[in-house]
Amino acid sequence: MTGTIPPRAVSADLEDAVHALIGHRLHAHTDRDGQTRSGYRESVYAEIRAELAARLGEGGSLRPRSLPPAWVEGLDWITTIDTTVAGWWPDPGPDDGQPETVRRLNLLAAHTWAPEDHEAIAWCVDDLEHWAMAGKALLEPVRRWELVAACPSCGAQTVHRPDSSGEYVRQAALQISAQGCECLSCHTHWAPAVYRLLAAALGCDIPAGVME
Ligand SMILES: [Zn+2]
Repeated sequence: MTGTIPPRAVSADLEDAVHALIGHRLHAHTDRDGQTRSGYRESVYAEIRAELAARLGEGGSLRPRSLPPAWVEGLDWITTIDTTVAGWWPDPGPDDGQPETVRRLNLLAAHTWAPEDHEAIAWCVDDLEHWAMAGKALLEPVRRWELVAACPSCGAQTVHRPDSSGEYVRQAALQISAQGCECLSCHTHWAPAVYRLLAAALGCDIPAGVME
């Protein structure tokens, strides 16, 4: 152990990371009269759990095939978190009506960790931060643009895939988001940094100012 991480920083980081996942979220919105109001939203974890419960129906039998693709990811997200957190802190404590994962994380955050645990806790913090970000992306999907061109890698121009309601629709194979361009057919990914090469391969010009 290096012992270079001050203990208070470790527990504060853990508390923040747990809060990012299971804490209420401050939320501001602008009313029709132009007034900005703030309130609280459910946590990322609670919103995704509720969304999944609504889509899976009462009884909660897990039938991933009937879920729209975005919510297959949601199901993976919940399963990964529930399983990993149960490994970190097996005893969920007394039932207070909260999901076991929420109880486990609260107990984890309230615990005083010995210096020899700090490195392991830093890894937990990384996982928690990653899950919170991925969860927010599931709840607020990134804006995408479609590129009407054949993929330079596999030649596909369109794909048929289920939309968020599960209906099969035709979509452009090349989809652009802030993370880059991805072919939905062969899953080749181009980072924004190589758009110039991609544009050359597609035989089109990048509009002035886009990449400068
Ligand atoms: Zn392709």
